[in-house]
Amino acid sequence: QIKEIGWNFDNSYASLPELFFKNIEPTPVRSAELVILNKSLANSLGLDVKKLQSKEGIEVVTGNQIPEGALPIAQAYAGHQFGNFTMLGDGRAVLLGEQITPSGERFDIQLKGSGRTPFSRRGDGRATLGPMLREYIISESMHALNIPTNRSLSVVTTGESVIRETELPGAILTRVAASHLRIGTFEYAANGGTVEDLRALTDYAIERHFPDIEDNEDRYLSLFQEVIKRQAALIAKWQLVGFIHGVMNTDNMTISGETIDYGPCAFMDEYNPATVFSSIDVQGRYAYQNQPPIGQWNLARFAEALLPLFHEDQDHAVELAEEALAKFEKLYHSYWLKGMRRKLGIQNEEEQDEPLIEDLLGIMENYRADFTNTFRALTLGEPEDTVMNGTTEFTHWYEQWQARLDRQEESKTSAYQVMKNTNPAVIPRNHRVEEALEAAVEKADYSVMERLMDVLSNPYAYSSEQEEYTKLAEPSNRP
Ligand code: AMP
Ligand code: MG
Ligand code: MG
Repeated sequence: QIKEIGWNFDNSYASLPELFFKNIEPTPVRSAELVILNKSLANSLGLDVKKLQSKEGIEVVTGNQIPEGALPIAQAYAGHQFGNFTMLGDGRAVLLGEQITPSGERFDIQLKGSGRTPFSRRGDGRATLGPMLREYIISESMHALNIPTNRSLSVVTTGESVIRETELPGAILTRVAASHLRIGTFEYAANGGTVEDLRALTDYAIERHFPDIEDNEDRYLSLFQEVIKRQAALIAKWQLVGFIHGVMNTDNMTISGETIDYGPCAFMDEYNPATVFSSIDVQGRYAYQNQPPIGQWNLARFAEALLPLFHEDQDHAVELAEEALAKFEKLYHSYWLKGMRRKLGIQNEEEQDEPLIEDLLGIMENYRADFTNTFRALTLGEPEDTVMNGTTEFTHWYEQWQARLDRQEESKTSAYQVMKNTNPAVIPRNHRVEEALEAAVEKADYSVMERLMDVLSNPYAYSSEQEEYTKLAEPSNRP
């Protein structure tokens, strides 16, 4: 039965030296119930939706049955958490293996919340329903926004309760990722292994994610440069939609350039660069405006781990690393600027574009304008819908912007089309996400979440059904 579902596992990561993982079995759960399944993702992975929904199918995504070909492991890694180095590892997740899709792509299939592992420390290895559904909603929204991310295949409830501040329903999320190789995996190799272990890991990462650089003479440095590019591109995309990750520890930054680890993340409402959502981030280390410099800081930790591979002469290795890392800022800035031009429908380059963009952001900040809705209003040609409307600053800015659009060869229609494809009409607003989670967790009513997912599945549609979802929370309901 399980065979027919379409699971087609390979286990390349498990061919790495033994220090990189522990063989484990997921802990069986009492009674599994599938509460949400990502059908289109299942299809693209080569899985049969009907069979995945069957009793046998569900047994796999709860970890009660191991499908043929899977080799369950917990991955070892380390990381800088809020600046401090720690040895970590999958404390509540198991990697079943890598699904090879019908088109030949390779994706990690990981169960999150699957029980204790040798890396659990004092944790119970379990996850609760609310946060797993939240990860499902936000990760799939990110995908719909064209932002690289791990995906969510399913959430099952376990029929067991998990003790947090109160008793909460247990759940397991099936996470699908290009890989789970993190900066922290390299820090782990550099701190807990030999140079040969580090080399084995790095060669593996290159083969898996950057086959084009495999034959480069200085491929380890090339890898570093490629990861810099991917992270600069990724973080620029976050900034351009107002996404705040919330825990940019080095163990939560992938080599593939996918967003990973949806904990205290959220989308910013009113534009304020100092916005922080995570209650544990008291210093604001991972505030919106800090995401690019923190990305660079994390990449410096990556370079430190890779130093022995860059050059025999370690002083020279440091120089090479610093030279490469110094490009991050420019690279990030160019991705950001390109994206901001698109957000304003600007299709060629003028010196004055950046001040024009900064002016708008400054006015938005002053008047606490909603980030998403401001760009939506501009896209719809409805500036009167912003809280800035009628102010001298905004009126002046709007004229300047219109004049800028008039100066380019492309028509206004084409400018507005570019904006429509760039500025999401809807994002997963915090109060909407909370409302969906509350219905699901407290009343087992998944219809609210399904409707929300439907609206978020095409954020650039500008459809009438989306309008209701553009509304802000009542003041009493704001974080
Ligand atoms: P995170 O803050 O989600 O990046 O997780 C940091 C570390 O804590 C990782 O090693 C996780 O596997 C581990 N962890 C988080 N929650 C639990 C839990 N309930 N039981 C065991 N380990 C956990
Ligand atoms: Mg993590
Ligand atoms: Mg987490």
